[in-house]
Amino acid sequence: MAHEMAHVVLEHSFSTLLRTSGGECRESDREQEAEAAELSGELLIPSDAALRLVTATLQTKLSPNTSASASNSPNGA
Ligand SMILES: [Zn+2]
Repeated sequence: MAHEMAHVVLEHSFSTLLRTSGGECRESDREQEAEAAELSGELLIPSDAALRLVTATLQTKLSPNTSASASNSPNGA
């Protein structure tokens, strides 16, 4: 749904919004599809948030006894 909303926000022609039974946009323009895919991804998970999540996850996996485990402490210490 975010993908279709992105087409509207980007003011793409409505003719590119039709879907086939296979689920792909019919009469699609590759450039417009790429734009809609990029914007819909940003709407769902902004790239800054995704980067922070990945960084925090990697730090937790590489150093499990640091910040992540401390923040999960029941007394907040
Ligand atoms: Zn599309």
